[in-house]
Amino acid sequence: MKRIVILGAAESGAGAAVLAKVKGFDVFVSDMSKIKGNYKALLDSHQIVWEEGKHTEELILNADEVIKSPGIPENAPMILKIKEKNIPIISEIEFAGRYTNAKMICITGSNGKTTTTSLIYHILKQAGYNVGLAGNIGRSLALQVAEENFDYYVIELSSFQLDNMYDFKADIAVLMNITPDHLDRYDFKMQNYVDSKMRITRNQTEKDAFVFWNDDPIVSEELKKYDIKARLCPFSEFKEKGVIGYVSDKTFTVEGPTPFNMEQEELALRGKHNLYNSLAAGITADLAGVSKEQIRKGLSDFAGVEHRLEKAGRVRGVDFVNDSKATNVNACWYALESMTQPTVLILGGKDKGNDYSEIFDLVKEKCIGLVFLGVDNSKLHAAFDNFGIPIADVKSMKDCVDECYKMAKPGSCVLLSPCCASFDLFKNMEDRGEQFKECVKNL
Ligand code: ADP
Repeated sequence: MKRIVILGAAESGAGAAVLAKVKGFDVFVSDMSKIKGNYKALLDSHQIVWEEGKHTEELILNADEVIKSPGIPENAPMILKIKEKNIPIISEIEFAGRYTNAKMICITGSNGKTTTTSLIYHILKQAGYNVGLAGNIGRSLALQVAEENFDYYVIELSSFQLDNMYDFKADIAVLMNITPDHLDRYDFKMQNYVDSKMRITRNQTEKDAFVFWNDDPIVSEELKKYDIKARLCPFSEFKEKGVIGYVSDKTFTVEGPTPFNMEQEELALRGKHNLYNSLAAGITADLAGVSKEQIRKGLSDFAGVEHRLEKAGRVRGVDFVNDSKATNVNACWYALESMTQPTVLILGGKDKGNDYSEIFDLVKEKCIGLVFLGVDNSKLHAAFDNFGIPIADVKSMKDCVDECYKMAKPGSCVLLSPCCASFDLFKNMEDRGEQFKECVKNL
């Protein structure tokens, strides 16, 4: 019997283990950290053998194939040993893809993945499609392949997931943009990260489609290097030759299989970045055969996603916006760009090799105060101290919200869009966003 070893037992690992078991493999799960109770229960209910707090070499290096959680870096000691033994390492998505004939709609990019994925899912689901939501959001693809029978999957893919995908193919691939992110996992070489993102087009044929943002300078350069077989579906802010989705005046147009347009005003999501996300979602839904009436409806009644430019309340004339998900500089740029009020901006956390110069102009134009929320704020001080804008350092969300409230004036806005990961002071970006909303409520 073929032996599959799964490293990491969170959402993707536990799901992969269940699918492997259902498909009759000899399955072993190993996690260096503690496994959460719900995942232990899932593994136990399928009689899957697991260990936690360690990696036992003898039980791992006898695998025929290893499924690696996207959270484990390529240079982790156990991964190096597995590579030395020439044991193939794949991702959960690659594994799950072998056992379903469902149409795969896959979304990647440095920013906008979750929003666009959720929006596409919303449109398809509302249009009555038998569709599952997977990848970085919701339940793992593998578990759904094991337990459900969907015709379509809308899958959010990070670069880490793409790295260990080989034979998997997206029927519709969507690439939102490529800007520096996670460089600490790519030897601080931008090209390595870019190559990873471009894997979304791997194995695509003439029958497939590749939806991408035409205005992205990196994507346009990369396209010259690849012989992409899929139908190219570029979208842009401008009506240019060849683009099949664009914005002109106040209208939003898709010239896909079923051309349609609508007023920008009718779109549920605000801000320039969300125009791109709505264009990508509109084109994708159109390619998937959704009627234009249903697409218009879905684009206009989507409720938005938590922690992405989410309204967190208004206190005595000051608006609070939770954009905790902005964990890189580019995401913060778009958040600031969409601000129409004088803004107190909260920055800081775990820096992933950030270059803050990208937001200098917008900070000068829109910010009336900066609050640095992190264990080590030295890089932020070096970047912003000479701007002449009031700055405060804080180490807890309560102090942060209090400080912002002091700096803000009625009619202004406090924006949490920190450019950084949250792991120095918070469990994760959700915890950071929740604490922000709670502190605003308590003002
Ligand atoms: P991801 O899943 O790729 O991290 P999200 O949809 O969660 O992206 O959005 C994260 C943040 O990135 C948002 O809060 C917003 O500030 C910014 N953002 C969203 N869409 C885009 C886009 N198309 N281009 C640039 N920035 C974006």
